[in-house]
Amino acid sequence: MNEEMSRDDLARLPFMNQRLGIEERVADLLKRLTLKEKFSLCAGKNLWSTKPVERLGIKGFRMSDGPNGLGAILSVFKKGTYFPASICRTATWDPDLSKQFGAALAQEERSIGYQMVLAPAVNIDRTPLGGRTFEYQTEDPYLNRKMAVAVVQGIQSQRVAACVKHFACNNQETNRTKVSSQVSERALREIYLQAFEAVVREADAWSVMAAYNKVNGTYCCESHDLLTERLRNEWGFRGFVVSDWYAVNPTTSTESCVNAGLSLEMPGGGSRYNEKALRAAFEAGKFSEDALDRNLTGLLRVMFLVGLFDDEKTLPAGSRNTPEHQALARRIAEEGIVLLKNERDVLPLKIEEVKKIAVLGPNADKKMGLKGGSSMVRPPYEITPLRGLRERCGEKVEIVRNPAEADVAVVFAGLSQGLLKGIDTEGEDKKSLELPSDQVTLINSTVEANPRTVVVLINGSPVTMDGWLKKVPTVVETWYAGQEAGHAIAAVLLGDVNPSGKLPLTFPRRLSNSPAHASERTFPGAEEVYYDEGVFVGYRHFDTRGTEPLFPFGHGLSYTKFAYANLRISGMKVSADVTNTGDRAGAEVVQLYVHDSTSSVERPMKELKGFEKVHLDPGRTETVTFTLTEEDLSFWDEKTGHWTAEAGEFDILVSSSSRDIRLQGELEYVE
Ligand code: BGC
Repeated sequence: MNEEMSRDDLARLPFMNQRLGIEERVADLLKRLTLKEKFSLCAGKNLWSTKPVERLGIKGFRMSDGPNGLGAILSVFKKGTYFPASICRTATWDPDLSKQFGAALAQEERSIGYQMVLAPAVNIDRTPLGGRTFEYQTEDPYLNRKMAVAVVQGIQSQRVAACVKHFACNNQETNRTKVSSQVSERALREIYLQAFEAVVREADAWSVMAAYNKVNGTYCCESHDLLTERLRNEWGFRGFVVSDWYAVNPTTSTESCVNAGLSLEMPGGGSRYNEKALRAAFEAGKFSEDALDRNLTGLLRVMFLVGLFDDEKTLPAGSRNTPEHQALARRIAEEGIVLLKNERDVLPLKIEEVKKIAVLGPNADKKMGLKGGSSMVRPPYEITPLRGLRERCGEKVEIVRNPAEADVAVVFAGLSQGLLKGIDTEGEDKKSLELPSDQVTLINSTVEANPRTVVVLINGSPVTMDGWLKKVPTVVETWYAGQEAGHAIAAVLLGDVNPSGKLPLTFPRRLSNSPAHASERTFPGAEEVYYDEGVFVGYRHFDTRGTEPLFPFGHGLSYTKFAYANLRISGMKVSADVTNTGDRAGAEVVQLYVHDSTSSVERPMKELKGFEKVHLDPGRTETVTFTLTEEDLSFWDEKTGHWTAEAGEFDILVSSSSRDIRLQGELEYVE
């Protein structure tokens, strides 16, 4: 190939021809690459880009975090919309909002000229201590799947690659670069891999990030089982696998990563995929050029998909911090806020009646965006709860500090995120489930001074509420709700928005109730962490073992009431009527759980297999219909190595939460 090839000559090469199919273009480009160039494409140039191959017009392919907005560590100048944390987004139980979020996130990415966003993060919340619980979505594989697929579809609708992470079983931060997650095939299939499989099969995810940890003894970055057998061969993945940042360092060798199917080592300057290491292993015959080509085919394919070779003018321009993105951030926050408890109808506050609100607590005026680890965002502004309340109440209501002199007291409690470290953060797990003791003292003294006390929790993971929950009439979980948090919180407190979020994970009464915390062996482990609970993760454990949670999975109250009626089961179709029987508009997440009443293996008491969020005006009824599939009734049979749905009766539970079953019936499944 002529080094001095002109731009016109380049433009005439087949891989530049947009009329050709993508596979043809990839094959043509691949065959023009020298071995040295191929090696150079296997590793990053720096933290956020691949190396360009100027001779062939291959530009650097650029990527950034992360799950709730443009990653702040990318640059101090690139401010982006700080969307609610994934746990809050998932609490909306609205896949369509997740899709809109994905598209908005991709537009922000495009606006800075980048092609891939390192999101969504879909590891299962196995332990309530997980430092990244706020960045992950849920403890339930079905909800996880639906939300993950929606985010990926949204991102990729903008011709930006999604990078689904962290594949797989990176369910704790403690020892994350050393620990091996020891997990059964059944739990892998039924719980941990569900979302990864779904984003490949249903959303054609363009990239997957291999996690830091080992699974069953092998580092994810060199796991042929994960990266080739499951991802490519079984699920049909056609994109590329990138390592988590520096995750290849502890692997066994360069060739084990290449042969496993790892396409790209990030960031640049790493130990396994530098040219010298790759050349040495190649020359020693430890991997073939075919193996290398297969890995690069996925990468090049994505480069074409995102338009890296196209005229930039023809690509979506992207946008950042637009009023639309800000409105979306607010909408997600409003829909993700969960009303945990509301006795004596303390909420919503009636602005005509309230003269003074006492605002207290460490999180009342705290900004949360630029915190939490790699997913931190640098927002253009952030509305704190105090500011949100002030703006909403204006002159009408006085904000005071003394609860005794106020009509209502609101304590903004919860956890915190630090710049690099904090309580909910990447890199380390929480030490306990409790709220800091000074907050418990503050809540108690407040409710003593004013029985009309609302505790607003701002945190990314479950907390216990010992010593105060019984005394406090009203508790709201707002999570880390993004740059519009204050507006959303004020809207919910004042009743402009009727809360409709539902918990995407169980809040346990105490840590030892959580299945991951049976012993040191099950968390945090040492060299190995044993997932002894198998498929009994989250509510699957609490329900099957008869343990009372503090607040169950799927729980969330409303300012109105919903009645359920007319359960109809016909074949695999389940339908029910839901009516808003209160006097204000609201939304209800109707949840469908199934249980195999006669099974040859132990199965969870309940498994979520359908949900729908319905918005209803007062007095209105809507029929919700779910169509179950054979897959929904199946379990992974370790004896045969297949998914199996056994003929017989299945309990059908149509519910307002995993513990608030409104309608119950039976479905007869015939093989
Ligand atoms: C995190 C990833 C992140 C990457 C790049 C790693 O430490 O685990 O989630 O995408 O850094 O910031």
